[in-house]
Amino acid sequence: MEQPLPNEFLAQAEARLGRGRLATDEVTLATYGWDNTGLYFRPQGVFLAENRQDVVALLSLCHEFGIPVTPRGAGSGNVGGCLPVQGGIVLSTQRMNRILQVNPVDRWVKVEPGVVNGELQNHLRPHGLFWPPDPSSARTCTIGGNLAMCSAGPGAVRYGVTRDWVLGLTAVLADGRLLQTGGLTSKNVVGLDLTRLLIGSEGMLAVVVEATLRLAPLPAAKRLLRVLYGSVQNATYAVAALLNQGLAPDAVEFLDGAALDLLRKGKAITLNEAARALLLVEVSGRVEEVDDLARRCQEILERFDALEVLRAGDEAESARIWQARSALSPTLKKLAPRRINEDVVVPVSRLPELMDGLTEISQRWQMPMVNFGHAGNGNIHVNLLTSQTVEQVLPILQEVFQLVRKLDGSLSGEHGIGIQKRPFLSLEVDEVSLQLQRAIKDAFDPKGILNPDKVFPAS
Ligand SMILES: Cc1cc2nc3c(=O)[nH]c(=O)nc-3n(C[C@H](O)[C@H](O)[C@H](O)COP(=O)(O)OP(=O)(O)OC[C@H]3O[C@@H](n4cnc5c(N)ncnc54)[C@H](O)[C@@H]3O)c2cc1C
Repeated sequence: MEQPLPNEFLAQAEARLGRGRLATDEVTLATYGWDNTGLYFRPQGVFLAENRQDVVALLSLCHEFGIPVTPRGAGSGNVGGCLPVQGGIVLSTQRMNRILQVNPVDRWVKVEPGVVNGELQNHLRPHGLFWPPDPSSARTCTIGGNLAMCSAGPGAVRYGVTRDWVLGLTAVLADGRLLQTGGLTSKNVVGLDLTRLLIGSEGMLAVVVEATLRLAPLPAAKRLLRVLYGSVQNATYAVAALLNQGLAPDAVEFLDGAALDLLRKGKAITLNEAARALLLVEVSGRVEEVDDLARRCQEILERFDALEVLRAGDEAESARIWQARSALSPTLKKLAPRRINEDVVVPVSRLPELMDGLTEISQRWQMPMVNFGHAGNGNIHVNLLTSQTVEQVLPILQEVFQLVRKLDGSLSGEHGIGIQKRPFLSLEVDEVSLQLQRAIKDAFDPKGILNPDKVFPAS
């Protein structure tokens, strides 16, 4: 049982945050200690901020008393980033969910951090605009979480990641000071780029309270191809060939045979029994060009012994196919609630070697794996179907990450490090870089109260 919050702190919280605003009842504490990892850490208090002044007040108070603060969006993260591992206060942004202003001419939108990604897209559609980062969790995850994890989704092949679609941020530092970064222009080379530094910093440097997001015009038309292959090798060679042709698809998604078996089992989809890999390839553009683009992609994809190519007839059919793809994570979670879900990334040309290596590791350790993901970026979700903990399967994960590093890849393409991947950081980040990163954390948060014990290995 951890120490209760000091009485003097609780008295000051009543006076400075408002009566009853800092929740300390067991039900609320239990609700805000989870995320998508299934791990639980009990906070000592939960604060639902309603505006930036609330965030300033909470951080100033916690800074004075040295109480840890863990920012939280929707809790959909996969690495324990929003879990209060040292106790302290969970700072939820769920009530800071206003879309403040859309500027269609300069193509930006100002939002609070608790806005849900999917709701922002719905709001922007009538303006003929969208915000390109499209994590598969878009219906629940918040912009604050997207910024902190530099999230992305299928569309990253063409549009890039969150970091590419932010003009400026307002954030609160650990001691309560307000920080402004960037501005309203698409070009800006004045001083160091603190906007980009904050994006992907996993809530360790500052709490974002407002973001100015860059927008893109919605494409007039889209076409989706679903291609089946008898082997993973053929599918991954097809991906490399497709991207080698300068065709710029929006999305190239991959599912391996084990993932297809899951979809068949869940009756999410009916598929040719011989299929051991599937690609979804989406292209977009002007109405008069999009069919030709789809046809040129199809020609390349068929060269690798495709078993079957389905071109979605209309938007409704495309939506049904995408839905089956989105059902995969929840289906997996049902089947193996404690599965270990990695999101490694390699250069696209090395995908065939990655898949070979994963098969070899899976067979040697007799560890069933389901692999799928954003193949157009070389980003594969490697799921170990086990009820063991990360610590118990450490040697297997070590081999997976060593394979990825040998192929010039990276430990995480989009989920981040959080607590889950801390033990492996040194496989990618060298000592000089780590020293600099720790110094940056100290400059932002000298008392170490913001999201402690995340990302960096324990020192
Ligand atoms: C079914 C499913 C599918 C997913 N698919 C994808 C995918 O395709 N691509 C992808 O990238 N991710 C995906 N994810 C992971 C997850 O949805 C993303 O990481 C998402 O951006 C997290 O948003 P959140 O609001 O849930 O943040 P949380 O999980 O609440 O928090 C994540 C991190 O953000 C920090 N944070 C939150 N708000 C702020 C703020 N205002 N200021 C500073 N720090 C803050 C937290 O401290 C924490 O470190 C998926 C998850 C699920 C469950």
